[in-house]
Amino acid sequence: MADIRLEGVGHSYDGGRTWAVKPTTWTWRGSRAYALLGPSGCGKTTLLNIISGLITPTEGRVFFDDRDVTGVPTAGRNIAQVFQFPVLYEEMSVYDNLAFPLRNRKVPKQEVDRRVREVSRLLGLDQVLGRRSRRLDAGRQQIVSLGRGLVRSQVAAVLLDEPLTVVDPALKWTLRSKLKEIHRDTGHTLVYVTHDQTEALTFADEVVVLNEGAIVQAGEPSELFLSPSHEFVGHFIGSPGMNMLPAEIAGDVVRVGREEVGTVREPLPPGPVRIGVRPEFVRITPAGASPGVTARVTGIDRMGAYDLVHATASEHRLIAKTEAGCSYRPDAVEFLHFPADRTFLFRDQVRCGSL
Ligand code: ATP
Repeated sequence: MADIRLEGVGHSYDGGRTWAVKPTTWTWRGSRAYALLGPSGCGKTTLLNIISGLITPTEGRVFFDDRDVTGVPTAGRNIAQVFQFPVLYEEMSVYDNLAFPLRNRKVPKQEVDRRVREVSRLLGLDQVLGRRSRRLDAGRQQIVSLGRGLVRSQVAAVLLDEPLTVVDPALKWTLRSKLKEIHRDTGHTLVYVTHDQTEALTFADEVVVLNEGAIVQAGEPSELFLSPSHEFVGHFIGSPGMNMLPAEIAGDVVRVGREEVGTVREPLPPGPVRIGVRPEFVRITPAGASPGVTARVTGIDRMGAYDLVHATASEHRLIAKTEAGCSYRPDAVEFLHFPADRTFLFRDQVRCGSL
């Protein structure tokens, strides 16, 4: 499986006025499963199509290991790509659709049969192998497309562009774990585009977060959750996202409004910062026991598995996630503590320190 290296790769659709993908240097390491995660319009599909060769970038070079493939069309890159919607030969049977990429590369018949049966078993297609593809519903057709993308073991990379969009939500969890299983077997270099954090976090070895055409952070799911290096990652990952509050550094003390919420771990220049703490880590405690802010409860969402306590502190809104059935009441005044090592400081959206 190839390492895929982007060297200063960028793309503009309008002659350089705006970047769909800003010049980026990044390596997708062989045999890893990546999620490329970001909101609609951030450049995910453009970046994926640059890897597959559907788009030639307006800046930079693309390498598969040491081979410069920048000008090489898709057919010469030995990749498998799965799109958002089914791409199948409708008149062919499911078996023939799955076998097609292998037969096309002159894989021996027995090996074709072995791979088709293996993938169809994992994806739950073994009962429909003889059916014509057009007789399946759109969700099932998409699973066949996914199978076509995964059936070849000898590919430089498998690229998946929101492949579960048309699949029944109840099936998505199963398919994601099947995908993981198939990936474990084949060791493909896999890039999975999604705007859905659950999809990204449950599936990937490494999540690459893209915003406005730039990679803002990449790491294991837990790293992005526990240690965001950029405000965007704090907001975008987590449900709800990270609380962000304006604060002030004076000496080694950090204040929100007039209240001291902690001290900086490393010395930082004085002045305004934003303080970020996830709802999961905000503690509602007795006043005076530890540093923190006084907050007025504005509402409680009873989510079943947990409660979300909405509050305002110094006119800023924030949320604490608590156990289900909490006894906090709207309009009550509570005291919120932000634990050190779970509370970060940001300047110009980039993390500059922590409590
Ligand atoms: P989505 O999840 O909505 O598909 P995305 O993250 O995949 O979004 P892209 O489709 O790569 O983002 O689009 C990135 C930017 O480039 C967007 O502003 C989009 O409008 C623009 N764009 C995409 N394709 C073209 C095109 N063929 N011509 C002009 N602009 C384009």
